[in-house]
Amino acid sequence: MNVHLINPSSVSFGTAVITPRWQYVLAAATPKSFGDPIQMDPEQIQPGDAVGIGIHTANALRGYEIGKIARERGAYVIFGGIHATLYPQEAVDLGGAHAVVKGDGDIAWAKALEDCRAGTPKAVYVGGQIEASDFVAARWDLVPRDRYMWASVQTVRGCPKHCSFCSVWRTDGQRPRQRTSDVVIEEIVQLRRLGFRFVALADDNFYPVTQTDIKLATAQKNTARLSELNAIRDERFELMSRLAQLPDDMVFFTQITMEAAEDTEFLDAMKAAHIKGALVGVEAVTPAGLKDVYKDFNLAGEDLIERLKTFRRHGVHVLGSFIFGLPSDRPETFDATVAAAISAEVTFAQFVTLSPYPGTVDFIKWEKGLGANPPMIAGIPLTRRWLIPQNLRPKLYWDHPVMSAEEIRSRTQAVWDNFYSFNSIWKRSSFIKSKRGRLAFVLISKIYRQMYADTGIATDSARVSRSREWVRWLAIPCRRLFAGRPMPDLQIPQMAAPAFAAGTGD
Ligand code: SF4
Repeated sequence: MNVHLINPSSVSFGTAVITPRWQYVLAAATPKSFGDPIQMDPEQIQPGDAVGIGIHTANALRGYEIGKIARERGAYVIFGGIHATLYPQEAVDLGGAHAVVKGDGDIAWAKALEDCRAGTPKAVYVGGQIEASDFVAARWDLVPRDRYMWASVQTVRGCPKHCSFCSVWRTDGQRPRQRTSDVVIEEIVQLRRLGFRFVALADDNFYPVTQTDIKLATAQKNTARLSELNAIRDERFELMSRLAQLPDDMVFFTQITMEAAEDTEFLDAMKAAHIKGALVGVEAVTPAGLKDVYKDFNLAGEDLIERLKTFRRHGVHVLGSFIFGLPSDRPETFDATVAAAISAEVTFAQFVTLSPYPGTVDFIKWEKGLGANPPMIAGIPLTRRWLIPQNLRPKLYWDHPVMSAEEIRSRTQAVWDNFYSFNSIWKRSSFIKSKRGRLAFVLISKIYRQMYADTGIATDSARVSRSREWVRWLAIPCRRLFAGRPMPDLQIPQMAAPAFAAGTGD
């Protein structure tokens, strides 16, 4: 019995940007007796094989197509991932699933495989939310080095916040489950030995304990909570002190809440650790917009600009993420947002439109609002929007109090065009000394813009396919830019020197 792990995608640029981590984790979680899993190629599926397909909402439809093909070829089909966790029956009805793994697959996967080998797969395996000590390290020895620009390593799962548009806190939980620095650093060293210089720390929130949390626990004299928070925080510093000992050509990128800017000791440690960039969910530049998404721990106006600039001052570049289509948005919000992004000196930005994602508070509200008989498109209820063929899907899903969907879409497109105009990018690249470096920055900015703007919000399919062509070509020089010389003898950095240990922020 061969094991196949398939990451469905209808958009392929030849070179993918980031390694799909789950495939290499499940490869590691596959018992030795099955051999090494085969990846990415539905053509090689034989009767009696087992096929694991990981889906999120955006690639569920493609995943179901592959699942059906695999089942027709006589294989056992096992679905997993956030979307299958939320809609297990859908994977059975539409994707030919024999089994669905709900929640974390690190442990449940092996059980599902054993049952398939015995010919008795169960309909559902409950993976749940396992402890960080049970997270499985990825099998990086299986990764085809020249297919990916970035590798990905997870250091913490879960996020204590509760943003209305985000499913992370509901699916991964609000309790940060943090891996020890030993296991994280081992994976990263293995990647650098192979020649990966760029590593995404694929965390829900790299800053799981804020100064506010610590102050609150102190004020409440909650010593148990305080020592728990301090332990998590100290472990973060320990990890960063070990990352800091890695070769200088390494670059890490992560996701973080903007509260990290209140903690400049943390930002300085990030910089020393080669964590050169972070995605920060800014979402909205007004207090009303932040309230719309339950994110009032973010700042607005001038305070927001100051906070984002703090990242930059401490050597951490920001990829600012903004949402349009919030109920409080007005036509002037679009220009105000791009102006704020520019004044805040964010290095990259993404501008997305509000979409209801399954597993979120927004989705529940939206689904309820459409009632028992939601509108149908191609025979599919709008509330199952991911099943509607891509070319028929609406670009926006919410009625807005003052703007039409088309107005929001075209204004969002204009914001992308403005932020990523050649002049804007060139100005932003001025922090880079060499001309070659500045040109590389322009190239990467253009790739980013093409991949995420046109494929997401363009109405015209010619524009979408032009975008893909563009990225395919641009990705070739980029891949070389990202690759590093393998360092097979690289040693594992040791524990933090005491002088680097974290303060508690008290
Ligand atoms: S959007 Fe970010 S901060 Fe909010 S719940 Fe999700 S991961 Fe946490």
